[in-house]
Amino acid sequence: MASLVTFNEILPQARKDGRAVGAFNVANLETVLSVFRAAEHEKSPIIIQVYQRLFNDERAELIAAMTARLVARSDIPVALHLDHGTSVEQIRKAIDIGYTSVMIDGSQLSFADNIALTSEAVKVAHQAGVTIEAEIGHVPFGDGEIELSTAAEAVEFVEKTGVDALAISIGTAHGFYKKEPVLDIERAAEIGRRVAIPLVLHGGTGVPENQLKKAIGCGVAKINIATELQNMFLRGVAQELDKNGDKFKPLDLYFKPVEEKIIEFVSGKIRAFSEGGC
Ligand SMILES: [Zn+2]
Repeated sequence: MASLVTFNEILPQARKDGRAVGAFNVANLETVLSVFRAAEHEKSPIIIQVYQRLFNDERAELIAAMTARLVARSDIPVALHLDHGTSVEQIRKAIDIGYTSVMIDGSQLSFADNIALTSEAVKVAHQAGVTIEAEIGHVPFGDGEIELSTAAEAVEFVEKTGVDALAISIGTAHGFYKKEPVLDIERAAEIGRRVAIPLVLHGGTGVPENQLKKAIGCGVAKINIATELQNMFLRGVAQELDKNGDKFKPLDLYFKPVEEKIIEFVSGKIRAFSEGGC
């Protein structure tokens, strides 16, 4: 019976091969199933990730049970990841309920405090055999200020914390962009030359594919997609509602065409991330 994998089984190899693994934020049964089916369809490793807010009730745990069940009868390497973990306590909870990877987000703390929090979280994760991602600089949510990462900080941070994957800030933001983002590829290349672990790009929604490919060539081995996928789900449901008018249609049949769209979208992203060039 196959089981969930950690980042170490998928990301270092991806970085070596010059490709990235897609990390998709799920929030319900339909999005988990669609992301998983896309990975199976493409025969590709995948990261299913759950935003920290969903750990406030049973959702994160139920998604873990569902993902583990799907993986048990598949040979696709799947990592289940806590996205934007806020505390060591939350990381413990994620590990307890079956997550194989976690993120600790100290990106809004001072550099020294980020190192201290991340080091503590790394100890807890590694003791449990779970991999861990952290972030330096800051990839903002919405209209917040982008704080770019530097190569010197990246080197020091990785050395001092022992983190397994590093999210860097090179011009992306979370959510939809008002104008097309321009990634700082030179910065990414310098970080990639000096840091050997897999790099992570948050805010992948709306970044042109040619820029993503360049980032992959610089060592980005995990690309997060949340906004675009979740928006597609909601718009899909709205379209179905419009189409069907007052006629009743059972919920599972309503979701079916929406799931098809998500499978196609995720499959396309998996293929797009399969090669890069700095
Ligand atoms: Zn993020």
